[in-house]
Amino acid sequence: MTLSALHRNETKTALTEAPFDLIVIGGGITGAGILLDAATRGLKVCMLEKHDFAYGTSSRSTKLIHGGLRYLKQLEFGLVHEVGSERAVVHKIAPHLVLPEKMLLPLSGGKSTGYWLTSFGLSVYDWLAGVRKEDRRMMLTRPQTIKAEPLLNTKGIIGGALYTEYRTDDARLTIEIIKTACDHGAVALNYAEVKGFINEHGNVQGVECVDGLSGNVFQVKGRVVVNATGPWVDQLRLKDGSLEGKRLHLTKGVHIVVDHQHVPVRQAVYFEGPDGRMVFAIPRDGKTYIGTTDTDYAGNPEAVVTKSEDVEYLLKAVAHAFAVSSVSIQEVESTWAGLRPLIHEDGKSASELSRKDEIFESPSGLLSIAGGKLTGYRKMAERVVDQVVEKISNEGENVFGDCVTDRLPLSVSYPDLENFFQAKESFLNNPEFIAQKNLAHRLMHTYGMSSQKILDQSRSLISSDPATALLEAEVIHCIVSESVEKLSDFYVRRTGLLYFDLPKVAATLDGVLKVFSEQLNWGEDRIQKERSELTGLINDALFGTS
Ligand SMILES: Cc1cc2nc3c(=O)[nH]c(=O)nc-3n(C[C@H](O)[C@H](O)[C@H](O)COP(=O)(O)OP(=O)(O)OC[C@H]3O[C@@H](n4cnc5c(N)ncnc54)[C@H](O)[C@@H]3O)c2cc1C
Repeated sequence: MTLSALHRNETKTALTEAPFDLIVIGGGITGAGILLDAATRGLKVCMLEKHDFAYGTSSRSTKLIHGGLRYLKQLEFGLVHEVGSERAVVHKIAPHLVLPEKMLLPLSGGKSTGYWLTSFGLSVYDWLAGVRKEDRRMMLTRPQTIKAEPLLNTKGIIGGALYTEYRTDDARLTIEIIKTACDHGAVALNYAEVKGFINEHGNVQGVECVDGLSGNVFQVKGRVVVNATGPWVDQLRLKDGSLEGKRLHLTKGVHIVVDHQHVPVRQAVYFEGPDGRMVFAIPRDGKTYIGTTDTDYAGNPEAVVTKSEDVEYLLKAVAHAFAVSSVSIQEVESTWAGLRPLIHEDGKSASELSRKDEIFESPSGLLSIAGGKLTGYRKMAERVVDQVVEKISNEGENVFGDCVTDRLPLSVSYPDLENFFQAKESFLNNPEFIAQKNLAHRLMHTYGMSSQKILDQSRSLISSDPATALLEAEVIHCIVSESVEKLSDFYVRRTGLLYFDLPKVAATLDGVLKVFSEQLNWGEDRIQKERSELTGLINDALFGTS
């Protein structure tokens, strides 16, 4: 069913009319993966998301499809094998969105043991993940390391390693997976909060839901319900009366964004901070983003924000690793903070906890999935749907197919990277982009094959100039084909502009509001509410300094 804000009522009707095989609660990457896997196996499946799709951790990660080098240190060979191998799969199914990125790991410390251990560790990493010969790790001498990244503080550097990871946009990946699932018959609604469960004879048979936009209450019936709410998993287990045994352990991670000229890294660098914690510096669209921290978090998941001490820590890490004139707190252009939904283990610190996922089944039959990583979403989904199919089959029916998501391109993806680059080259040659190649680049990496649709639509609009027409067409596309309901959906999760180009948010706000008002019939009150919500988010991104 189409994922469109213009069809919200039809989507709600579809949700309330038919009983589903599976109801997925939570529209992050975990829920999205389950939705797609289930829909393509032939299950009648729906998803309910309290805020916007990817509102939680799935828009606030380091945005890497990576094997997790540090899990090797924790001897988590199974996890490294699984997520490491998944990198190539996710790249194959979404080549416009998941791109190879060389990662430099500078090594310091005076002793050569660390160097040889890293060399061995990375070979194991490549082997476990089945990395192609040409992408395997390359060990660098001290001069080669400094040549690869002249920005490094050279004191203490003994060498380095260059290895391949992938970068992505987490929220875009999530939304593309949901769209693909909807193309295969799934039903997904954002701003639909699950408030409680419908139980029959002690078994969960559906959910009570509130429409966050209209306030309407409605019920959705289903044979199996999966709780994929990331940091909120325990809140839902509590509502189900099954919060016993293992619990979540939330840790907070923060990223800051600065202009690339302040930290002009040539490639992504994975370096040690002053206290030994590992930090990423990643170039993207004329900026460099730096993160992450890993600190225990006991507050409300809704209220996680960047604090000035988080920013200070990351700036210190930059000054420690790179020979840059000190970057001031005022030069930080934006930030984001997110929560890792890890599974608690007694006596272990935030960074020692496993990133492995686990599925819990409660006495009512509710399945909850916790832990895991963005990178491993597909395999997590496969395990959950296997369990769902088994439950349904126990009731005497198994008519569902096998998991196919490893060979199913996301709906707006090109068949391969070569094909994508060819399409991008010809897209760049359109007259609209002569003076704005960056925009063409952004559209192609954001919307894949839908970029052409956006360009075609912009040509049919009567606007003062091509840039305005393109922006209007982009907003319309997001409303009509990606269920954008609020300004923040557009600026944070569909385009990432609130993180990577705040001045553009300010410059385009009036025009964007106009399109929203026309498409969704907003009155003055709603416009004011949206403006003020966005201002609050900008304030959070600037850690209260704006
Ligand atoms: C700082 C940081 C950096 C990271 N970097 C990486 C990385 O680079 N690569 C990687 O592979 N992994 C990374 N991870 C891990 C990865 O991002 C997470 O494992 C993943 O995004 C979790 O997704 P999720 O769908 O389980 O949770 P979420 O994305 O949080 O989704 C849960 C959703 O459930 C919704 N919800 C909650 N309650 C309800 C309700 N009652 N009704 C309906 N909906 C509800 C929420 O609104 C939310 O959208 C990182 C994590 C953090 C914190």
